[in-house]
Amino acid sequence: MKAEIVMIGSELLLGQIVDTNATYLAQQLNNIGISLYYKTTVGDNPGRMEEVLNQALTRSDMVIASGGLGPTDDDLTREVAAKVTGRELEFKQELMDYIEALFKKVGMRMSPSNRRQAYVPKGSRVIPNPRGTAPGFIVEDPRGLLIAIPGVPAEVKFLMENSVIPFLREKFGLGQSIIKSRVLKICGISESALGETIKDLLTTSQNPTLGILAKQGDMEVRVTARASSEPEADSLIAVMEAEIRRRLGNIIYGADEDTLEGIVCSLLQEMGLRLSVLETNTGGLVAQRLVSIAPQVLKEGFVAISDEAKRRLASTAELEADSPSLANLLAESIRRVSGSDLGLAIVSKTPLSPIGEKARQEIDYGRTYFAFASNQGITNFEYGFGGWSKDSQPRTATVALEMVRRNLKGMKMEFVTKEK
Ligand code: ATP
Ligand code: MG
Repeated sequence: MKAEIVMIGSELLLGQIVDTNATYLAQQLNNIGISLYYKTTVGDNPGRMEEVLNQALTRSDMVIASGGLGPTDDDLTREVAAKVTGRELEFKQELMDYIEALFKKVGMRMSPSNRRQAYVPKGSRVIPNPRGTAPGFIVEDPRGLLIAIPGVPAEVKFLMENSVIPFLREKFGLGQSIIKSRVLKICGISESALGETIKDLLTTSQNPTLGILAKQGDMEVRVTARASSEPEADSLIAVMEAEIRRRLGNIIYGADEDTLEGIVCSLLQEMGLRLSVLETNTGGLVAQRLVSIAPQVLKEGFVAISDEAKRRLASTAELEADSPSLANLLAESIRRVSGSDLGLAIVSKTPLSPIGEKARQEIDYGRTYFAFASNQGITNFEYGFGGWSKDSQPRTATVALEMVRRNLKGMKMEFVTKEK
């Protein structure tokens, strides 16, 4: 069953509204096990609508068109649907009665143009719309099913849930299957390296299916299973998860609702350790993420921007340039100064210009140096994406938290860019 959705409305092509209907329709079709192969958007233009609907019916078994069922002259879905399926438009008195009654109920005069909404392609199945004036309809063309529904999001939702999905379930004998997902969270590997590591699973696995989503500094692998019951879905997921874990090992830091800061806070609490953090380009983001979960794990947080501040915190008169050794010095120094078990320093070169394109050029994407100090000594890590941009700040904070996690777990901090 190959499905296609056709989103109709010039405002979508003009970028004036966000196409939330398409996202919703895609989710709904996936939920009932219908594969969505294409999503097309077309403006309110009869020639192009005809072209798109013809193409969709030719290459797909089922087409859902949304929008263009309003009463005005630029609402053309009825006419075009009739044309591409070789039918006349047929007037339905019961639809007219319904629309008239609706206007009466809200105390408004019906405009003559609303009469257009009482027409549907001949022989089609009407989808009544108690949420608005525009009914939808289903035409069974020899090439496939054409389902037309309005564009108002609340109506789309109502008609899908109450008419279209029950109709599709019945027609195609789709059982009450359930969909369940589990998300594995990973930090310290590039998206391409992750993709390579699980490439065969990504491309060949049908149930569960796998997807990779790059977040800010970390990555998610989503495992989605379709099954007739929850335990069945769980066991399909468990087999796949075990295989992914076998390949990636403990660079998977958590799953589902886990956050990296949550994991780090739990580890610190379990081990009865407290951390002090010195930040530069993240401006306190690492401290904020820890404090938002378990304030007590953070002994002290510093944001050092000026050389003077770095000099004082490093307890040195001669400040060296931003480097791994400066990060080491700072991590150990703040650990000592604040009497913490652990010290973490994140050092990135400070731009002289205000943050923007000029600053970005000036610091040349700025490398970031991380150092982690404990009574076992100091470890450090260097990261190619530093800088002060909106993107690089959360990304750097994530890498810093992962560095803490790895040190607490006795793992090596690294960023893998080749297949594991
Ligand atoms: P209908 O078929 O219900 O008359 P229409 O496309 O003719 O729909 P419009 O006046 O174009 O009606 O849109 C009605 C409302 O629905 C508007 O608020 C519009 O922003 C919204 N809308 C239309 N299409 C979408 C979409 N794909 N995603 C989100 N909102 C949409
Ligand atoms: Mg429209």
